[in-house]
Amino acid sequence: MMNDTAALNPDSMETALDENMAYRQNLRNRQRIVVKVGSSSLLHRTTHRLDYHKIDVLVRELSDLKNRGKDVILVSSGATAVGREVIRRTDFGRNLAEDSKITVKQACAAIGQARLMMTYQRFFTDYNQISAQILMDKNAVTENLSKYNLYNTFNELLKFDCIPIVNENDSVATYEYSVGDNDNLSAIVASLMHADLLILLSDVDGLYTDDPRINPDAEYIEYVPHLDEKLMKMAKGTTGSESGTGGMNTKLQAGVIATKSGCDMVIVNSRHMKVIHEVVQGRNHGTLFRADPDPNFDLQDYLESSF
Ligand code: GLU
Repeated sequence: MMNDTAALNPDSMETALDENMAYRQNLRNRQRIVVKVGSSSLLHRTTHRLDYHKIDVLVRELSDLKNRGKDVILVSSGATAVGREVIRRTDFGRNLAEDSKITVKQACAAIGQARLMMTYQRFFTDYNQISAQILMDKNAVTENLSKYNLYNTFNELLKFDCIPIVNENDSVATYEYSVGDNDNLSAIVASLMHADLLILLSDVDGLYTDDPRINPDAEYIEYVPHLDEKLMKMAKGTTGSESGTGGMNTKLQAGVIATKSGCDMVIVNSRHMKVIHEVVQGRNHGTLFRADPDPNFDLQDYLESSF
């Protein structure tokens, strides 16, 4: 990220912070919530195997939102990382590299996606919820008929009180067809389904003026009422975490899609998954990007021109 502390003007900061606290109280009333969880939030850092404790709390949080009468959609990464770990436990795959060729990654995703869904279904069943799998790619939204069908399927699932679990169709979607990261994918789903809150669970606390791992003077930004070019530039070139693909750049791209579609977005650290209900209660966690609806924003046009 480029150092840009000028983004924080001390004179306007106090008002912005008051506005942030006041606005966050509205998050209690959000009715359709999309939650995105990245691979690094689901896996133990050292072994790269599934962190069942975190998944249990994640599922409990989402189930409770559902029991409060909200519509909940989960966008979960992890297919490739989980599949890779499964393969590494075999004689054949012991030395499988992170940067293996695309066909190997796609095979890993096929194995891992099934394993991931099996795990989610087990936990969601414990909390008396019905979950469903949706695998999609970019074409599912850029082509009119697919978009119509996808919308209808989501709608029926939500009417059935299901929790759809979404991922990119990684074992089939190659470069030309894929969105590539689940930050953008979750914003696309939020936009398509007219969600009013998108929560990006991450291994970072939120947005900083610079990369805090490199620059100790990087300042934390807790409220973004308008996502402008200056902020977009700040995030350029940030890298993702160990297991996933999304850095701050993809999170801000997701912010553009979500906020222009009229959806609030919060980037928050998933260290403690219970942060989900605290965000929905209006507590001041993570960076809030306030919905900033743009009547001229068209999801299909945007995807065709930007991806
Ligand atoms: N769809 C990918 C997977 O499940 C993850 C993409 C991402 O990390 O954003 O492996």
